Amino acid sequence: MESLLDLTISQAHNGLKNKDFSSTEITKAYLDQIKKTDGALNSYLSITEELAVEQAEAADKIIATQKEFSPLLGVPCSIKDAILVQGAPCTAASKVLENYVAPYDATVIKKLKKDGAVILGKTNLDEFAMGVSTENSAFQVTKNPHDQAHVPGGSSGGSAASVAGKQACYSLGSDTGGSIRLPASFCGVVGLNPTYGAVSRYGLIALASSLDQIGPMAKTVEDTKIVFNAISGKDALDATSVEYQFEESEISLKGLTIGVPKEYFEKGMDKEVEAIIKNAIKKAQEQGAKIQEISLPHTKYAIACYYIIVPSEASANLARYDGIKYGLSKQESKDLLSVYVQSRGEGFGAEPKRRILVGTHALSSGYYDAYYKKAQEVRGLIRQDFINAFKKVDVIFSPVSPFPAFKVAEKVDDPLSMYLVDVYTGSVKLAGLPALSLPAGKAGKLPVGLQIIGNYFEENKILSIAQQMEKLV
Ligand code: GLN
Repeated sequence: MESLLDLTISQAHNGLKNKDFSSTEITKAYLDQIKKTDGALNSYLSITEELAVEQAEAADKIIATQKEFSPLLGVPCSIKDAILVQGAPCTAASKVLENYVAPYDATVIKKLKKDGAVILGKTNLDEFAMGVSTENSAFQVTKNPHDQAHVPGGSSGGSAASVAGKQACYSLGSDTGGSIRLPASFCGVVGLNPTYGAVSRYGLIALASSLDQIGPMAKTVEDTKIVFNAISGKDALDATSVEYQFEESEISLKGLTIGVPKEYFEKGMDKEVEAIIKNAIKKAQEQGAKIQEISLPHTKYAIACYYIIVPSEASANLARYDGIKYGLSKQESKDLLSVYVQSRGEGFGAEPKRRILVGTHALSSGYYDAYYKKAQEVRGLIRQDFINAFKKVDVIFSPVSPFPAFKVAEKVDDPLSMYLVDVYTGSVKLAGLPALSLPAGKAGKLPVGLQIIGNYFEENKILSIAQQMEKLV
């Protein structure tokens, strides 16, 4: 028998069904692995051991009496520490929420619990999901399990590292500009950023509400699909979530038209990444796919546009951390203004402060038209680029990141170079589209992801194509 830690969700499900092992056994195996390896990897901010053991025992009772049950029942997962799990700490990796305990479950957690999932703990991230390396966490730096001198990507770096480091069977992350796909790419796991509105955001600590989406990170495409099916759907508690009947979609690569954006390959891409992505494209072509060069002419404005819209929304969302309603509170300060200033001054790290400054400025009277309004107009153009492209092609293939995982501390003093990492993932989010990162090869020890971008609500098409590509690359 393979090690329990190597099993995919579907293999674990079959094993539980056949009574080859119990949920308690898998859960203990993961908890042991976390104890053994997390001193070095730093994937987890908190371990919910009691909850996990309780959930595993409850799952084992169901397994003892029922023949059919959810594929997630009794299978252990980790959760990004920006998603609320009732009774567990939820810090968003910020000092401002250091002692915050979630009073309720996010909708995605309610859904996972209904399916009998086992929650092992909460994973590290860049503070308030702002970043690409998980180095912006106020508490610890997560390491890439493939080479610990390198970052795991971010902001859902703890989630990706926990799956790649065999510390969880799958994880939930969140993606605003690339935070599921980038760490998935750097850590060699599958990550799906759903269409905006496909998954409820209720109970996700907000970064930028018009872009944030929760999504799965898993070992295989099949597992990713299982988790996506479990968490998607309309939720009365999130007005931006939508009811969508995801049709089953078995798409053959033969006859498929794959778009390749010419702007993405023009400059700045690492040679090894380029070779891996081109190889994936060639493999698809060998199976009968038609490759068509497309143009996304507004790509060059994507980073500038993203880094106006996200800080603007973030500055509004972070206004709630005022030392009165949530988290860190410097009550001993001499008056109300000092409570605000000291609580926020001590609570927020450098990156949230930078975004609050930029966002507040961009939204201020006199500058709103020049920055925020202009960025919204550019966002419309970027969206239209993709709409035009999808009139001609079925899906788009691209890299996730211009380079493989960089070294810990390499970029930490250069926020602008961190922002540039989002070049292939940010515009997809400005358009609200779904996209998946699939491990497509390695540059030395470091994994490289292929990004498969689909049209609105075509998650099943992306997943079907990814499942075939998974066998080819
Ligand atoms: N790197 C991007 C940012 O810092 C994306 C983060 C995310 O998707 N949460 O905003």
